[in-house]
Amino acid sequence: MDRIERIYINGEFVAPHGQEWFDLHNPSTEEVIGQVLLGDAHDARRAIAAAKAAFPAWSRTTREERVAALKRMHRAVVAREDRLMEVILEEYGAPSVRGRWMATYPAAVIEQAIEVLESFAFEEQAGTARVIQTPVGVAGLITPWNSNAGFICNKLATALAAGCTVVIKPSEMSALQTQVIAEALHDAALPPGVFNIVNGRGDVVGEEIARHPDIAKISFTGSSAVGEHLVTAGAATMKRVTLELGGKSPTVVLEDADFAGVMPLVLQAGFANSGQACIAGTRILVPRARLIEFEQAAREAVSHVKSGDPSEADTDIGPMVSAKQWERVQSYIRLGQAEGAKLLAGGEGRPEGLDRGWFVKPTIFTGATNQMRIAREEIFGPVLTVIPYEDEADAIAIANDTRYGLSALVLGKDSVRCERVARQIDSGRVLVNTLSHEPRAPFGGFKHSGLGREMGRWGMNAYLEPKTLLMESGASRR
Ligand code: NAD
Repeated sequence: MDRIERIYINGEFVAPHGQEWFDLHNPSTEEVIGQVLLGDAHDARRAIAAAKAAFPAWSRTTREERVAALKRMHRAVVAREDRLMEVILEEYGAPSVRGRWMATYPAAVIEQAIEVLESFAFEEQAGTARVIQTPVGVAGLITPWNSNAGFICNKLATALAAGCTVVIKPSEMSALQTQVIAEALHDAALPPGVFNIVNGRGDVVGEEIARHPDIAKISFTGSSAVGEHLVTAGAATMKRVTLELGGKSPTVVLEDADFAGVMPLVLQAGFANSGQACIAGTRILVPRARLIEFEQAAREAVSHVKSGDPSEADTDIGPMVSAKQWERVQSYIRLGQAEGAKLLAGGEGRPEGLDRGWFVKPTIFTGATNQMRIAREEIFGPVLTVIPYEDEADAIAIANDTRYGLSALVLGKDSVRCERVARQIDSGRVLVNTLSHEPRAPFGGFKHSGLGREMGRWGMNAYLEPKTLLMESGASRR
């Protein structure tokens, strides 16, 4: 059994002041597989002080020095990929294909941050003024459990590239993944205090970071409820805030779509990351005139989707991360039926043959309206809702009738029409007939799906303040 009893402050693994032990589970077996000793507000303050002390020197490093540091981080994280894969499977239960992606993504995002840093314009001319992009200060980075290592590395690499120093509050439920990443980052030999990692509860360590005057910026990925709270909590100290929050993303199936052809994309988008994905396409909008045909195709396709042991190569959907998350998903499956939606596939309970583990049947509701709670609230499990629409305008109206706006998928044969629809959807990202990802483009949400953007130069700008420098005319610039 793993026991994680150190946090990382000022370049060292140290014992926390906090004394609470927190159990880590294998969601496939429900067994306790480890324990983590949580830090407290005192530990958060120590970490913030270390990051504050490291800021003046780090913020003055050159582009070349930061690139060299990020390259060391990249090498160290690549060296830990196999171990990361093991703990992702054990602690999170990601099916193997997804798990491999989650284990390689942390190094990939560091590489992307290097690419951005290498060509980033830290200074530019605006009329007679020089505009200098200046690191904002100490950044507090708060991550969720559904891709903890990837979010740590993305936020950290971008913040360091910008010249900020950092305090990380990872998800307390992902301490094994955090430990693998912390050991890799330690090997990268960055200056002490440049990054600090404090395991702890959100309402303890996260709250201290959210309110502390020496934190200039928060970058948070997690639920909309906590994101909204962070905006309020940070207001008194005027924190810059980047929020990547939840979603209820539409998959718009247009009338001319070949249902058999698009169904793999519909199901992959909906069941991505075992349904525990912020970008999951959970509202499937289908032309009413072809609803029965779509239902038949979906029922057939979902019968081949396997929810079960994530270590088996043909598993598509792994367990929910916790008992609480399993209960929550079950409650939505009951709620959908109570609201009058019809089960097309799946339903309450575990998939056949499984009597333990937080597994959920791949579930699809049909006959739903966009006003039902199963169509409005983020379930965060493999539960999809088919909603019929009348015509193109109705489809766009339903797609946009949501408090969220993170991602959308448009499927159809006529690419001109697909693009016309895509351009009218209020969402940070719209995919047309593809699930591909472009890391150079900004990622983030409209409305309650977030504030600001990560990735590419947009992500870097979020850690910088533009400073305008105007000189007496004729004075030379150094
Ligand atoms: P969560 O909001 O419960 O927790 C996220 C993090 O915030 C955790 O580290 C938690 O400890 C911390 N936290 C909790 N309360 C806090 C407080 N008062 N102050 C400071 N920090 C606090 O989310 P979760 O359950 O871990 O993750 C699932 C959610 O994350 C879903 O809503 C999902 O859509 C969202 N998510 C969004 C994206 C995106 O990029 N938009 C990506 C992944 C997940």
